[in-house]
Amino acid sequence: MEDTKIYKIEDVNAQEDEIKKAAEIVKQGGLCAFPTETVYGLGGNGLDPEAAAKIYAAKGRPSDNPLIIHIAEVADLTLYCREIPQEAWKLAEAFWPGPLTMILKKKENVPERTTGGLDTVAVRMPDHPVALALIRASGCPIAAPSANLSGKPSPTKAVHVYEDLRGRIPVILDGGDVTIGIESTIVDLTDGAPKILRPGYISRGDIARVLELQEEERAPGGERIDPAKVDPQAAPKAPGMKYRHYAPKAALYISGGTTEEMTEEILSRAAQAKNEGKKVGILCTEETKPRYMADVVLSVGSRAQERSIAHNLFAALRAFDDSDVDVIFAEALETPQLGEAVMNRLGKAAAAKKEEEKED
Ligand code: AMP
Ligand code: MG
Repeated sequence: MEDTKIYKIEDVNAQEDEIKKAAEIVKQGGLCAFPTETVYGLGGNGLDPEAAAKIYAAKGRPSDNPLIIHIAEVADLTLYCREIPQEAWKLAEAFWPGPLTMILKKKENVPERTTGGLDTVAVRMPDHPVALALIRASGCPIAAPSANLSGKPSPTKAVHVYEDLRGRIPVILDGGDVTIGIESTIVDLTDGAPKILRPGYISRGDIARVLELQEEERAPGGERIDPAKVDPQAAPKAPGMKYRHYAPKAALYISGGTTEEMTEEILSRAAQAKNEGKKVGILCTEETKPRYMADVVLSVGSRAQERSIAHNLFAALRAFDDSDVDVIFAEALETPQLGEAVMNRLGKAAAAKKEEEKED
C-alpha cells in the first residue's frame, strides 16, 4: 500500500514547490487529489488512457463512467473539442471559471478511456487557485471525478478524501473546505438545444439568462424526472448517471410537504424505527431542528441561506456514517434556487439504498 502525503496549500505562490511536486506526479501518469470550488477532485492527465484507468481503479468506479476534464484557460476548449457551438462560448463567458461543465464533441487527442467510450467530452474550468495552478503546472488538462470511493458522498474536505483514498493515491493537496459543496451543473451542447444533464450550483434560471435551454421534462404529475432514469437501457448520453451515488451507509427516507406535514411524518417514522430498536438519524434544517429528538439530529443549514445547505450536505451524509445510525429520515430540501441540485443528490442517496435492498 502506498503512503498518501497531504500538502496543505494556503498560498499557491508561496507554495509553488508543493504544486510542482504534485504536477510532476500527474505528468508522469500518476494521480493527485485537489480542491475545486465544488468538491475535491481526483486528478490525472486527461490525455493519458493509463491515468484514466488509475482513476477508475482508485475510486473503484466502473470504467464506462466518463470523466470531466479540467482546463485552466477558456481558449483551451479548442484543443480538446471540435464543432464548438456559439452557446459554449457564451456559457464560458458567463460562468467560467466556475461550477459549469459542458459536453462537447471531442477531438482525437482525448482518449475514449477518459470519456467512457463516448465521442463527446465533458469540460470545465474550475474556480479555485489550487486547481488552476495544478493544471497549469502539469501542462495538460486534468481528468477528475470527485475524489471519493465510488458510491460515497463527494468529498468537501481533504479529510474526506483521506478517509476514502488513503493508501490508494500518492498525494492530496489540501486547500481547506470547498466553498460550494455540490458538483457542477452539466450542460449537453451536442444534441440540439442545450440541455441540463445534471443539475448543480448554477441553476436552470442562471443558464436561461444566457441562452435558451431545452425544456425540462416533467412527469404527468409535475414531478421532476431524473434524466438518468428515463431509459437506462438506451445508449445513455451520460453513462455515469446510471450508477449509485452519494450513498450513506444507512437507508435514507425523504419526507416532504408543508413544514407541519414534514415534521410530523419524520417524527412518526422516527418513533416507529426507535420501537424497532434502530439507531435513528434525522437530517433537518436550522428552522426545524428544535422540533426533533432522535439519536442523531443534524441540521444541514438554514432554509433562509440555501447555499449553506449545498455546502454542508455531503459532510452531513458522511457524519451519519461516522455515527453508525441504522436509518436516516431527511427533510425534502426544495429551496428556490438550489433545490433542484440538492434534491437530485438527496434523491440519489435515498434511491441508492433502495436499489441495494432489491439486490439483496
Ligand atoms: P463526477 O466525476 O463524479 O463529478 O461525475 C462526472 C459526471 O459527468 C459523470 O458521471 C457523467 O454523468 C458526466 N459526464 C462526463 N462526461 C460526459 C460525457 N461525455 N457525456 C455526458 N456526461 C458526461
Ligand atoms: Mg462523483
